[in-house]
Order: sequence, then structure tokens, then C-alpha cells
Amino acid sequence: MEDTLMGSHYDVVVVGAGFAGLYAVHKMRDELGLDVQAFEAAGGVGGTWWWNRYPGARCDFESIHYSYSFSEEIQREWEWSERFAGQPEILAYLEWVADKLDVRRAFRFNTRVTSTTWDDKAARWIICTDDGATCTARFVVSCVGGLSVAKEPEFPGSETFRGELYRTSSWPHEPVDLTGKRVAVIGTGSTGIQVIQEIANEAAELTVFQRTPNFAAPLGNEPVDLAQRRWNAEHHAELRAGSRQHMIGVPYDPPSGPALAATPDERRRIFDKYWDRGGFRLLVSTFSDVIFNQQANETIAEYIRERIRERVKDPATAALLCPTDHPYASKRPPFETGYYEAYNLPHVHLVDVRSAPIEAITPTGVRTSSKSYEFDVIILATGFDVFTRPLLNLGLRGRDGLKLEDRWANGPTSYLGVQIAGFPNLFVINGPKSAVALYNVPLATEDNVNFVAAALARAIADKTATFEATYEAEEAWGRLCEGILNLTVIPHSKGSWYMGENIPGKARAAYFFAGGAPLYRAICAEIVHVGYGGFALDRVSAPIPPMVRLDPAAALLLGSMLARGMKPLDELNLDEVRAVAESLRELQLPGPAMRVEIVEEPRARIYIPDRAGPLPVIVFYHGGGWISGSLDLADAPCRRLADENGAIVVSAHYRLAPEHSFPAATDDTFAALSWVWKHVSAYGGDPGRIVVMGESAGANLAAVAAIRARDAGIPLAGQVLIYPPIDPEASTASRTEFADGPFFTRAIGEKMWGAYLGGAELTELAAPSRASSLAGLAPALVLTLELDMSRDEAEDYAGALASAGVPVRLHRFDGLFHGVFNMSAFIPRVREMYASIGEFVATCKEQITEAA
Ligand code: FAD
Ligand code: NAP
Repeated sequence: MEDTLMGSHYDVVVVGAGFAGLYAVHKMRDELGLDVQAFEAAGGVGGTWWWNRYPGARCDFESIHYSYSFSEEIQREWEWSERFAGQPEILAYLEWVADKLDVRRAFRFNTRVTSTTWDDKAARWIICTDDGATCTARFVVSCVGGLSVAKEPEFPGSETFRGELYRTSSWPHEPVDLTGKRVAVIGTGSTGIQVIQEIANEAAELTVFQRTPNFAAPLGNEPVDLAQRRWNAEHHAELRAGSRQHMIGVPYDPPSGPALAATPDERRRIFDKYWDRGGFRLLVSTFSDVIFNQQANETIAEYIRERIRERVKDPATAALLCPTDHPYASKRPPFETGYYEAYNLPHVHLVDVRSAPIEAITPTGVRTSSKSYEFDVIILATGFDVFTRPLLNLGLRGRDGLKLEDRWANGPTSYLGVQIAGFPNLFVINGPKSAVALYNVPLATEDNVNFVAAALARAIADKTATFEATYEAEEAWGRLCEGILNLTVIPHSKGSWYMGENIPGKARAAYFFAGGAPLYRAICAEIVHVGYGGFALDRVSAPIPPMVRLDPAAALLLGSMLARGMKPLDELNLDEVRAVAESLRELQLPGPAMRVEIVEEPRARIYIPDRAGPLPVIVFYHGGGWISGSLDLADAPCRRLADENGAIVVSAHYRLAPEHSFPAATDDTFAALSWVWKHVSAYGGDPGRIVVMGESAGANLAAVAAIRARDAGIPLAGQVLIYPPIDPEASTASRTEFADGPFFTRAIGEKMWGAYLGGAELTELAAPSRASSLAGLAPALVLTLELDMSRDEAEDYAGALASAGVPVRLHRFDGLFHGVFNMSAFIPRVREMYASIGEFVATCKEQITEAA
């Protein structure tokens, strides 16, 4: 019979029939109306859940969440019988979905794609399969899954074993009877743990070969009764509310703050609570620092060890089961039901293959470096060659014959996990460096498929022949992925697939984006919003959008703000803006203790470090867009400035708009400066060494105060302008580029300027660049931020000062956004801003001394 596939051309070829492939076919074929051919190596749909039929296989996100959300009908009609469904039920669900969407007919099953070659002239892919069929397609959408290729065991001899040998990831479809048999399980990852607890009561003897113990916590599975099932199906929207806004895509409670700030009793109470509730809650709902801070992590690690020791009767076995060589969750956490109790059974044995490694599988069993064991059945639960191998197995060759193997010789690269530079029109769902490893997969899948479908729709509408990630975007994304991962404890794992370390010889790298689902989605949305920034359409590339260029810590902070439901600043009313400004105090490092004097008129706080005077003086004006902020907001930064610079810091109050519009704030801040000049010596300050300083709107006020001081004959040693807004009418590139943030937007900037000016005419007292002359002003340090809309006007002002003969230092900080000075607890690089200020203040002191 003639193969209808041979030589055919399609709009899209999809590879894989798991969660991703089924939805991708439906989306591309039924919603975009494209001609789609799909391939699947397995004999049916289901992907992971078709292959992994081992005893005890089940999901570890609740099934009401670990399922598609795109269809009302599917959610309403399907009822889950268990809180965490087992493999047969998940497979049945995916089969039911496939039938409902009628996607099976798009697939050619039992067919493995073996080579995928880009034909540059025709701008299409040539796809060949292991059954000899060939076709071409304008786009390839890879849905090959991250965990679909089993790791090859390092030890030889599998083929010599005379008993039954099974791999969990290709478990037989027929029932395997283990009764009365001597069974070995090699591997104690999520899979091994599920198998062991399931078969412990079935096998006559069960021997577990463990190399690295794992931190397993209770899953909390239970049957769901009929009434509850119906209720769940009818209330899916309610149940899922907030899922996508949660870091891992499941609406679990937010954490209680840092573990290190809690007492041991409080920690125990919170750990107990979420241990009992089961699943990922122990990681995500307990404390915010366990994934970032090794010391905090140790509190949860020790808690789990204690629970293991309580449950395992034999202390030596318990000790072997307690992980001590990696932080909790630096490997993907496994979950269990009666796993530890299995080791209390007399016929279950634990063998440590860290101290005596497995050397070979022999005809009769397993040989380690110290002993030989005999078995009837050996089960390999040794994991997967994650993320990269399934894609490499597609035999990809991109532009100019570029092999994916070569491209990835030093580890995987991609943009968003969705495209690989050099491989046009190839889209990957949940690829390496996507958010999928820490994101409930069906939701991650839907996000990726929707993104890809929109890209295809755009390419088709615009008749774009090639759609590809740029190398620069890939690099920027790689830096962000790596930077974020390095802020977590994950790189401290050993041998984890998270870092590619479970496969000998595989490059150690950041294999996924750990910034959480809300940030990932916000970045994807921004990329689309700016016209596919970082992608090249017909080789014309759009600039890499701001969020991809974020400093990793700034990105993480933004991600957690998004997860907490932060609305864009310009959508907030005045009270809300003020509340947000005050809430920034929680993001500041605490300031050191010191003597603080309160002055009532003009209102100010004077921070006096315990040093011999007379001391240099900093007059500081807080930020907040002239409409918010307070002396409280400036408290910690002022303490730190005083301490680090050995300076008296006067934090000056000023009246806020809109209640008090221009010129109230500039008058108040200048009055405070005049007062300081006259009175600061009474506090140990040197009136000949005053530096005026401000942050954001406070920096605008400082710049204006410097001009007024010059005109009034008040000598200043310096002015420090921390990302100052200079002129509301400035027309600059940064104003356009960062109009939508990150964090601070043009719309809120305009609102703030409007409230401050209150309709007044714009003069040098509001826009210092409009001064008739800038000559004779105090030396300036201008700090700007790469991703800030006021960046260019501030840098232009620095240029104007320099042109007028003012000594100027300009320091731009890459990857940071407006407001970060108040986020020192979460963005370590704010330290560099303080260091820059410190150097400048020191030079101001020297200059004055020289002049004297
Ligand atoms: P897969 O389901 O892996 O589907 C990919 C398909 O592509 C496979 O069927 C494969 O045969 C096919 N394929 C690959 N290469 C080719 C080729 N060259 N030619 C043709 N076909 C090819 N994630 C969670 O979020 N929660 C969980 O609880 C969870 N539990 C898991 C349990 C197990 C045992 C495993 C192994 C993984 C689990 N995961 C879990 C991750 C799981 O892989 C994903 O949740 C999800 O099922 C992946 O769907 P997918 O469609 O992206 O890929
Ligand atoms: P895994 O986590 O990589 O675990 C593999 C196990 O095999 C480890 O214990 C490993 O020991 C051991 N191993 C590998 N090579 C070995 C060797 N040569 N000698 C001795 N031991 C060896 O793989 P997995 O358990 O299949 O899980 C992979 C992922 O699939 C999970 O992280 C999870 O994402 C997913 N999954 C989820 C569930 C669920 O509950 N929903 C269930 C199963 C799988 P070392 O640690 O020392 O390398």
C-alpha cells in the first residue's frame, strides 16, 4: 500500500503525543486551521503516562491541577477519583481528551522521528522517520517531553541477566507478577520510591540499591468520594483560581516569611502543618528562604531527617536513608506514601551503593564492589537523560547544516525554552531552559503552546518565511536562567538532573528557568507585546526586551511581586501607591543601630554614627514620586549611609503632592538644607562638607537644592543623584523603551509629575536641566539604571553638568530597574550603589581637604 505520508508537505509537524503534543495538535489544527501531521514513537497517546506503567506510578500535583485548563467542557466533564491520580487514570484521561478533540487521526503512532533537517532554500523542514517515511513542513513543533528518554545504566551486563529485567520507563503493558520473587530495585528517585513502596508487600524479598538517599515527604493521597468529584468538576474555575499566578502553577498557600526569622517552635508548627497536608506544600508554603539560603534549607532538611528517624525502626537503616550531602529541593523532591515504613518489613533490605558501587548486572543478579546478590527480577529506576536527549534524538540540523549536538556541546541553549538560535521555524514545548521543571506541567504546556500558536499565527499572517530566536537573545536568556539558579540552593545538589549531572559526561548547566511561572509568563507576554523581542522574523531581529535583561535577583523579586498579585503602579490609587512605597521597607536590609535625633522644624531625622567629628554630612531626600515615601522609608538607607560613610545623615521631610504641589517639596528640601548648613555643627557635622543626596524624586529635589544652594552661597561638597527624574518633557529613548517597566512605568511617572507640578509652569526649580547655567555646581555623582525610563534624562543631565565644568561621575547599573535602592535585602547589587556613593563621598572629603 502506498504511504500517503511520503513526500507530503504540511504547515506543521508535531512530534509527541503527551500533554504537549495533544494540545499542540488541537491548537494548530482546530484553532489556527493549519494542516498538521504528528508523529509518536509509542503505540498510543499519553506520552509519560503511556510509557511509565510501573507499579505505583502517579502524579504529585493534585489531579484537579495536573490536567488541562484550556477547555471548560473537559474540566467539567472529567472527574478524578483520587487526589493524586495513578498512571492508569491519567492515561485514561489523556485518551479521553484525545478522543474528545479527535486528535488521534493527526498522529502516526509507532513512528519515531529520526532526522529533522532545515532546507534553507525552501524555508522548510525535512522530517524522516524510522519507518522510512519522509515529509516536509514549514514549522516543526517538538513536544518530545523532557523525561522521555531513559538514562543508559553505567554498569554493564543487563543483557546477560537470566531473570526478568524491567525499566520503569518502558514497563510492560501486561501485569507483572512479583509474588514470591526476589526483586531488586536500583534507584531511589521519585520513580524508585513509588515502586518500592508499592511492591514492598508483594515481593518475597525486596532489595533496594541506594546510591543517594532522597528527602521524601508525604504525598497525602486519598480517594475522592463521588459527591466531592462532582463538586470538583463543577468548581474547576474556583479551584484553579490563582494557579498561573503561583510560582509553581498550583494555588498553594504562600510561605510564611523566612525560616531564619522564625523560632524553632514556629518552624516546627509550620513544617508539621504542611507535612501533614502533603505534596509540594512542604517546599512552597512553609518558608520563603528554604530554596535560597543554605542555613534556612538546613532547618527543613533536618526536620525531614527527624521524621525519617521517627519512622524507620532500625537506626542504621534510618541513618542510611537520611540525606546529608545535598540541600532539600536541590534535587526534585519526591513524595511518598508508606515508603519509609517499607524498610521496617523484615524482607526489605537497603544496600548502600555509594560505599560499594554496582559493578555489573550478572546472569544471576547484581554485583557490587563488595558483594554479589541473586534476584529473579531487577527493576531499573535510574532516571532519564533529561531535556536535551529527546531533542538530540530528533537528529536536528539547522541552518548551514548546524548539528544540535555541536550547538549544545557545552550545554543547552535556547530562548525561553521555546526556540534554539540557528534552527528557524522549530518550536519546542517545554524545552531546556523553559519554566517547566518547577511549573505544573499541563499549565506550563498550555502557556508554551499558546505562545507558539500566536507566533505561528503572526508568521502566517505576515507571510514570514523564517521565525527564529537570535543568538543574542539566547545568550541573555541563558544568563538570566543561570543567574537565577545560582541564587538558589539548586547548584549545590550533586548528581541531579536539574543540573544535567545525573548523566556521566553531560554538561553541567542551567537546564531550566527557576524564576517561577508568573515571571516566565510576564516575560513571554512582554516579548509578544514588543513585537517578538529577541526573535528574528525573516532575519530582521527585534531588540531583546527589558525583562530578559534583568539582573537575576531583580528578576526574582519582580517574580515574587507578580506572584503576590502586584498590580501595575499606574493602576493604583493614591493611597495604594503610598502603601506600596511604604511596603518597600520590607525589601530593605535593616540599617545599623545608632543615635538618631529628631528635629521638628524643619522636620528631619539626624543619624549620628559613633565616630569622632566633625563628620561629613549627607542631606538625604527620600523617593516616592513626590506623592509618596516618608522618613520611615528612608530610615534603613540613611542608617547605612551614615554607618558606611562615617557621615552624619540628615533625612529631610518634605510635603507631598497632590495635597501640596510644586513648589512645596523643593521649598521644604531647600529649607532643610539651609537649616543643616547653619545648625549641623551642633550635632558634630562639618558644614563645609555637605553632600546633598536623593533617590528618584528625592534626587530631583537634591539636584534642584544644589542649584538653589549655589545661588544662595551655601557651599556643597557634592550632590548624589540616584536615578533622578529630570524633566517631564524630556523625549528620550529610555522613556520609550521602558515605558512599560519593569516595575516603574511611564504612565505612573506622568501621574507623579502631574501631581507634583499641579499645573505650575515648568522651571528649573522642577526640571534642573532648565537652569540658565549649571556652572559652579557641586561635584556630582549620578547613578542610573539600565532598565529605567528616566535613565537617559539623568545621563543627559550628567552630560550637561560636565559640559558646564562640574566634575561628574556617572555610574550606570545594568539589569536594574527604577526603585531598587529600596530593595537592598533582595537585590545584592544594590551594595554596588552604596559602594559607588562611598567612593564619591570619600573623594568629596579629600577634595575639600585639598582645597582647605
Ligand atoms: P511526554 O509526556 O514525555 O511526551 C513526549 C512524547 O514524545 C513521548 O510519548 C515520546 O514517545 C514522544 N517522542 C519523543 N521523541 C520522539 C521522536 N523522536 N519521535 C516520535 N516520538 C517521540 N510532571 C508534573 O508536573 N507533575 C507530576 O506529577 C509528574 N509526574 C511524573 C511522573 C513520571 C513517572 C514521569 C516520568 C514524569 C512526571 N512528570 C510530572 C513530568 C511529565 O513528563 C510531564 O508532566 C508531562 O507528562 C510531559 O508531557 P509532554 O507532552 O511534554 O512529554
Ligand atoms: P532520578 O530522580 O534521576 O533518580 C534516579 C535514581 O537512580 C537515583 O536514585 C540515582 O542515584 C539512581 N541511579 C542512577 N544511576 C545509578 C547508578 N549507576 N548506580 C546506582 N544508582 C543509580 O529519576 P526518576 O526517579 O525516574 O525521576 C525523574 C523525574 O521524573 C523526577 O524527578 C520527577 O520529575 C519525575 N517523576 C515524578 C514522579 C511523581 O511523583 N509524580 C514519579 C516519577 C518520576 P543518584 O541520586 O545517586 O544519582
